[in-house]
Amino acid sequence: MILLANCEAEPGFFHSVTALKAGTGAVDALVEGIGHVEADPAVRSVGYGGWPNMIGEMECDAGVMDGTTREVGAVGAVPRTLPVARLAREVMRRLPHVMLTGAGARRFADESGFISDEMLHPDSARVWWDKLEGLLDPAQRAAFPDLPLAPFSKAITDPERVRDTTVFLGRDSGGDMAAVTSTSGWAWKYPGRLGDSPIPGAGFYADSRFGAAACTHTGEMTMRSATAHAVVHAMQLGLDLDQAVEAAARDLLTLETGFLGEVVIHAIDATGRHRVVNLLGRAPVSYWIWTPEMAEPERRLSEQFQS
Ligand code: ASP
Repeated sequence: MILLANCEAEPGFFHSVTALKAGTGAVDALVEGIGHVEADPAVRSVGYGGWPNMIGEMECDAGVMDGTTREVGAVGAVPRTLPVARLAREVMRRLPHVMLTGAGARRFADESGFISDEMLHPDSARVWWDKLEGLLDPAQRAAFPDLPLAPFSKAITDPERVRDTTVFLGRDSGGDMAAVTSTSGWAWKYPGRLGDSPIPGAGFYADSRFGAAACTHTGEMTMRSATAHAVVHAMQLGLDLDQAVEAAARDLLTLETGFLGEVVIHAIDATGRHRVVNLLGRAPVSYWIWTPEMAEPERRLSEQFQS
């Protein structure tokens, strides 16, 4: 068994460890833990504690992958819904689809018995409007939000405020692996923007034969390099965990145009090893790791990746 998650996972990490120890399968153990992160308003990037889009509406993204069947469920830009990772699991289990977005995802949430909640944290609402208001002239303020938003997009979008999405990777006692993600996405994102967190292969991927990977921070880069799949595919081609993570990291560093920023790659392999590397970041980020040899889960620091 192994469980790896990023630092934001703290409120749910212990729940997933307990579930894995009790014999719960990887998908369910990880979805349970991430639900506690989503419900905790102190986690300022996921669920209730997250950030709204440019027009002040919460739109959450989540993804679930079963590494044994390689089935995936994902929801993107879904309004008024928690827990979104559980909704992604419902997509995987109950629909002939992989991904639902926006109003369709909310409709499915209604059908599936999820409560509807605006989910806008008062502090997020205040910070959102304070920054936006400073960019708008009086006529634009009066017209808001019925005005072109694209001119403000580059000036206001702030991936640094969402550090991080929460990502969980795990392998249960039966050897089944899973990857689960959840986020509110970038603060002040253009409405409808999807990051990498609901995109299988970019923000998350799991294959119980080889390993699992998930990314945080600049989804606009990992979507272009299919980073999570790149890590697992490299292991399938025979590279070990370290080589696989390094190959995917080096590929990200070849991107020279578009929106560039920090990326953290989290990965585990089928033998119970793990690696967390941070690219283009100013400082290491922390993460949580647990294996059965550890008395307690441990908080550790990522490596700074040097190409
Ligand atoms: N990767 C996420 C996204 O692009 C954000 C993050 O993890 O900071 O939405």
